[in-house]
Amino acid sequence: MTGASNRYPTRDLQARDAAHHIHPFTDTGALNREGPRIITSADGAWLTDSDGKRYLDGMAGLWCCQVGHGRQEIADAVHRQMCELEYYNTFFKTSHPPAVALAEKLAELTPPQFNRVFFTSSGSEANDTVFRMVRAYWDKMGQPEKKTIIGRWNGYHGSTLAGTSLGGMKGMHEQGDLPVPGVHHIAQPYWFGEGGDMSEEEFGLWAARELERAIDEIGEDKVAAFIAEPIQGAGGVIIPPQSYWPEVSRICKERGILLVVDEVICGFGRLGTWFGSDYYGLEPDLMPIAKGLSSGYLPIGGVMVSDRVASVFIDQAGDFHHGFTYSGHPACCAAALANLEIMQREKLVERVADDIGPYLQAKWTGLADHPLVGEARMVGLVGALELVPAKGDRSRAFEPAGDVGTLCRDLSFDNGLVMRAVRDSMIISPPLVLTHEEADLLVERTAKTLDDTYAVLK
Ligand code: PLP
Repeated sequence: MTGASNRYPTRDLQARDAAHHIHPFTDTGALNREGPRIITSADGAWLTDSDGKRYLDGMAGLWCCQVGHGRQEIADAVHRQMCELEYYNTFFKTSHPPAVALAEKLAELTPPQFNRVFFTSSGSEANDTVFRMVRAYWDKMGQPEKKTIIGRWNGYHGSTLAGTSLGGMKGMHEQGDLPVPGVHHIAQPYWFGEGGDMSEEEFGLWAARELERAIDEIGEDKVAAFIAEPIQGAGGVIIPPQSYWPEVSRICKERGILLVVDEVICGFGRLGTWFGSDYYGLEPDLMPIAKGLSSGYLPIGGVMVSDRVASVFIDQAGDFHHGFTYSGHPACCAAALANLEIMQREKLVERVADDIGPYLQAKWTGLADHPLVGEARMVGLVGALELVPAKGDRSRAFEPAGDVGTLCRDLSFDNGLVMRAVRDSMIISPPLVLTHEEADLLVERTAKTLDDTYAVLK
């Protein structure tokens, strides 16, 4: 197909992209041969490409567009802010009204131990901030030997050096000799793939107690913190067994280590609560946030800092030698404030808990009947389908991993639905404004995509 209009000539854009653009998480050579799909506009839960084809955005961009695309009121708020103060920094004893208002709003929305935020431009920067803040905290506490941060295999905390190190993606570690020293990884609570003969609840306890075993091995006096996502997103929407989080919380409290809950995906209503920590009843000491904070309209993230941690920085003299030019960027703060205003006014979090969440979950879990699907799982509006070669046998996976997932993802695009493939799991995380009709269509298109994938494999 050629471009639908002269404004967006597809082949021309693809050629220029191939000549000058290196894409994130992409095999650039392969992409340059195929040419990227060019998205030119978006509205609500829908995307349009340069050929005029429409796609249901089952991923809310990259897990971020809670309020849907094309909200004029966010654009207007950013415009107004840019006309008044387009940029100023928050270094050196300076602030500005949008940063003040957003910090205050976040203190209101987050769990009660959080009254302060450190602003960043992304989730990765938030986790770099966590890395430095955790170590600075224990230094200030007079325990500088407490340095090791424990994360999980297949966790994702971003792409910077600290984010990649804290995360447990082996492919990322292999590029650049990571993790950096002082990071240790334990098993993930992925019962479907790694639970063996254990029941879900037994496995949840086993995975949680891996943390205790690691602390014993490294030495309690050397462990600074444990970091984890409430539900692993990029790792494949891994919903931990119910027994997992209470045990992890107990261990962190008893062993005197900080609990860092990475809310970059689960935060801002994704699970039908404001934060994943609310959903699981967690009491984190630090909470990285991004994505849904501005619904992706402008880049902004941050770290929520509990009173326990903040008080040490406040009570002891001396700078925290850390910050970004765009920490608390006024236009980004304005976008976040307008986004949160929409979320509260339209009661989007309640909608996920009581209306569209249960509605989509009922239909999504019904896809478990398909011969290709080993498990269909969903909490709030984030879900996965495990594609398997032998239904009913969790011990068997496709070889090589990922080919069937990629095929299914490509067929899904052909069917006008954006899903993501993580190995051979199909992932959805749609905007929180998804209508019932769109939820029906999402499941219909997924079912057709599964049939199409199955037909190719037969
Ligand atoms: N933490 C989690 C849990 C994420 O899912 C992501 C991104 O997907 C990040 C951190 C990194 O965020 P960013 O891509 O904004 O740097």
